[in-house]
Formats: sequence, C-alpha cells, structure tokens
Amino acid sequence: MKTKFDTYSEMKNLQMNQDTYKLRRDVMNIIYEAKKLKNIPRVSVRITEDSPDTLGAGRMKGNIIWISKRAVKNRNLRTIVYHELLHTCYGVDHQKGDILMDPRLRGGLTKEQVQKRFVYWANKAERDKK
Ligand SMILES: [Zn+2]
Repeated sequence: MKTKFDTYSEMKNLQMNQDTYKLRRDVMNIIYEAKKLKNIPRVSVRITEDSPDTLGAGRMKGNIIWISKRAVKNRNLRTIVYHELLHTCYGVDHQKGDILMDPRLRGGLTKEQVQKRFVYWANKAERDKK
C-alpha cells in the first residue's frame, strides 16, 4: 500500500511477543475472512515498526505481507490487508484510481466494497493467467 517498497520490505519486523501476536491476530482474522471468499494460499504475516510512508507491503506472488503497527490500529486495516493480499497472492499491480489497488490508501470503504473489489481483482488475475 502506498509504497515503493511493495515487492519487499525495508520495514523492521517487531519482535514476536504477546503484544505483537495480538496485533498479528487482528491481521490473521482478516486473512481468514478473505479465505472464505477465495482459495488463497497460506500467507506469512510480519508486524513491523512504523514507517513514515508505508502502511504495509506485500511481496509480489511471494505469499508474505508486512503490516506496520499503526496500520493494524488503523480503522482501514481491512482495506490495507486485502490490498497486500492481492499483491502477494495474485501479483496484482497498482491501479491508479482504483478503490483498492491505488497506491494510496482510500479510507472509509465498507467491508462489502473491499470484499467485492478483492474478488473482482482475484478473479481477473486468475482469468488473465489462463
Ligand atoms: Zn501496494
């Protein structure tokens, strides 16, 4: 999301302790939600320290995402996680002006809007692969 670091991460992983596990659980819950919509592979989740211009990152088709601490606390966390999942599970690129895949976070989307757009891009990526 919103970043030149999308294919890897320069963000510093937080040490795994009770607080970090709790943050990661919030992200995992959203991933479980996405798994009900699409058959996505197992994704590694790293929680990172805050970075000035990056909320999260996802390695293209690498099945790993990095989510910063402030992103987990952000009320648009769902939008951020689904965005990174499209990068890392499907290799979807940024799309200027798109509600979900614009490089800049668009706040205030409903759960339904985010999920519908996620399925749209996932299906498109699957079709394009054939
Ligand atoms: Zn992105």
